[in-house]
Order: sequence, then C-alpha cells, then structure tokens
Amino acid sequence: MGATSAAMGHVVLMNDSPAQFALTHYSQNLWRDLVGFLPADVEFEQRGTLWIAADDEEMEEVRRKHEAFGAAGVAAEILDSDALADAEPHLRRPMAGALLVPSDVVVDPTRAAAWLMEEAVRAGATLYAPRKVVSAGAGRVRLEDGGELNAEHIVIACGAESRTLVPALPIRKRKGHLAITGRRPGLVRRQLVELGYLKTAHTVTADSVAFNVQPRRSGEIIVGSSRQFGDEETAVNPAILSAMLERAKLYVPVLADCRLVRSWTGFRAATPDKLPLIGPWPPDTTMLLATGHEGLGITTSLGTGRLIADQVMGAKPEISAEPYWPARLFAEAAGQEAEKLMEGR
Ligand SMILES: Cc1cc2nc3c(=O)[nH]c(=O)nc-3n(C[C@H](O)[C@H](O)[C@H](O)COP(=O)(O)OP(=O)(O)OC[C@H]3O[C@@H](n4cnc5c(N)ncnc54)[C@H](O)[C@@H]3O)c2cc1C
Repeated sequence: MGATSAAMGHVVLMNDSPAQFALTHYSQNLWRDLVGFLPADVEFEQRGTLWIAADDEEMEEVRRKHEAFGAAGVAAEILDSDALADAEPHLRRPMAGALLVPSDVVVDPTRAAAWLMEEAVRAGATLYAPRKVVSAGAGRVRLEDGGELNAEHIVIACGAESRTLVPALPIRKRKGHLAITGRRPGLVRRQLVELGYLKTAHTVTADSVAFNVQPRRSGEIIVGSSRQFGDEETAVNPAILSAMLERAKLYVPVLADCRLVRSWTGFRAATPDKLPLIGPWPPDTTMLLATGHEGLGITTSLGTGRLIADQVMGAKPEISAEPYWPARLFAEAAGQEAEKLMEGR
C-alpha cells in the first residue's frame, strides 16, 4: 500500500558509494536466485539498463561508471553514438553514447511484494494487515483495534511512514511521479535512464525531473521520474508531471504520440546520507529498522530481508551490515526517543 505499489520496479546496480553498490549487487543476485520460483505475473525480465549520455561531460561519466563496474566484476559495455542509435532507434539523435549494463532487471513490484508476502504466510507467518500499528517498542506492538502483540524482535518497515512509529528517525518523504502509456511494443527495448539523472536525483535539495523509461512486458511504457521534498500531498502535480513528460519527449520524441493511460505518485523514504537504515535501533534491543531505502527499495528489498534475518538469527551476513546500521545517523536523537519510551509513551 506504500511506495512499493507506486514504484517502477527497476532492479538496478548503483555505485554512488561502495555501500550502495554492495547492497544493490547483493540484492540483485538474490533476485536472480528467485527466478525459478517467481510467478509469471511478477514479470521478471533481464532488460538491462542503458545509461544515456547526452553530451561529452556525461560521456566522461559513462567511462567512469564503466571502469568502476569493471573493477567490481560487473559486465558493462560502452556504446558510441551510432551503436546507441542502433540499440534504441527511437532515441533522439545524436546522443553522445551510453553505458549498457546488461544484468539489470525489471519486475512488477506490487506483484513481487504480494508473492513474497504469500510465501511468508505459507511458511507460517501471520498477517494482520490491513490493521494498523499505533505504537511499537519494548517488545510490544499495539494495533489500532486495541489488539496487542508481544515479540522478541519488532521490525519497523513502514517506508516513508516509519516516523509515525519512531519519530526520531531522520527520514524525509521524497515525492515521485510516474506515468504509463498505452501499448507500444518494441518502442523502447531496455530501461533507459539519462545520465543527467545522476546529477539531479541524488542531490538532496531542489525538485527535479529526469528521463527514465521502462518497457513493460505488456508493451506499455512507464515514464518517470520526479523527486520533490516538501510536497506531502498524494495528488499528481500537473506542473511536475508535464515537466517530466517534456523531459521524456526530449529523449524519445515519438512518446509525444503515445496515449497516456495513467499517472500517479508515491513517497520515497529519504535519509540524509542516501543509505537505508537496516539493523538494530540502539536504545531498544527489541527494535530493528528496515526503512529509508529512498529510490532503491525494490532493488534492495531482498538484501534488506536477508540482513534482518541474519541479525535476528545471529548469523554472519554475507556482506558487511555495518554501513546500514541506524546507529550511524541518530545516536543522539535515539537517546531522546528512548527516554520517551521508558516513560511508557
Ligand atoms: C515513483 C517511485 C518510483 C520508484 N522506482 C523504483 C525503482 O524502479 N526501483 C527501486 O529499487 N525502487 C524504486 N522506488 C523506491 C521503492 O518504491 C521504495 O524504496 C520501496 O518500495 C520501499 O519499500 P518499503 O517496504 O520500505 O515501504 P513501502 O512500500 O512504503 O511499504 C510500507 C508499508 O508499511 C505500511 N504501514 C505504514 N505505516 C503503518 C502502520 N502504522 N501500521 C501498519 N502498517 C503500516 C504501509 O501501508 C505500507 O504497506 C520508487 C519509489 C517511487 C516513489
């Protein structure tokens, strides 16, 4: 019911920081491990990503990314202007080139989440949704209907709403818009993302729109995306939507002829250092956080789940868990929150 149902479902390797790369890489491999099990309607497709460079400056970034991925053992290929035009005939010409990362994947995030939940229930989990939690802490969870649950471990995984249960969390809502076209099979072949996106999407200040499109198995094309702080209304903002669509048409002019079927918004849970909060919450030994995934929470969902499971089971994680530990960001704020909890909030 949150960001997951609003997301694009691009399971993408990102390398803004070593910790971000480690989690996206680990998680993408976990997605791949599920291939034989995922139902067809999850629409797992290894589309690959084309990171598009519009100019020479962005081509420099293509080379930097290529080198970094190469050093990490990830296959990636630099396409020059002509090779890119062959790969995606509907892109505006000329573009400077692109980086092709063939291993990136596309899924339907809503169906994937539903299936994972169904699997958990089949394995013995009890689902209380849609009942809401009104408070959590000290091994106790209270539900809106007055019910109460006790547990050794409580995992807060409420996305951008996590602050309603843990007010001290340094999470801000970052609104995003997406739209979907009618069916135009083959118009776009891979997930296409402008490299300018890296200049705007990962800054933490101004509103931004960037070209990012995804072909769906149905032939529909999801068009994104935008990033905004300070607007917590779910309504589509016509100015942002229009700026986003204009940006898309700049890259794929023929999109101007495509019927727009629907547009919507969702809220990413942004942290100040652009890494998620996964692991123990220092002042309350019963609490674990699994939130703050901003624009990468579909990609990193499975890695997050494994890190949390390892923590609960006392198992050694396959990647270092420390970079995502919440303690890094809010030791002081958490202390104040702990005092409130002890007072029986
Ligand atoms: C427009 C957009 C596009 C995106 N595209 C991508 C993409 O292509 N790839 C990618 O990797 N990521 C993408 N993301 C990011 C991704 O969607 C999120 O990081 C991810 O979905 C977060 O998952 P979550 O489970 O933490 O939160 P959510 O999906 O928001 O889930 C939180 C859940 O907690 C429930 N909840 C909240 N409060 C309570 C309460 N008090 N009691 C009980 N339940 C509660 C909510 O109902 C909801 O079901 C995108 C996000 C947006 C907004």
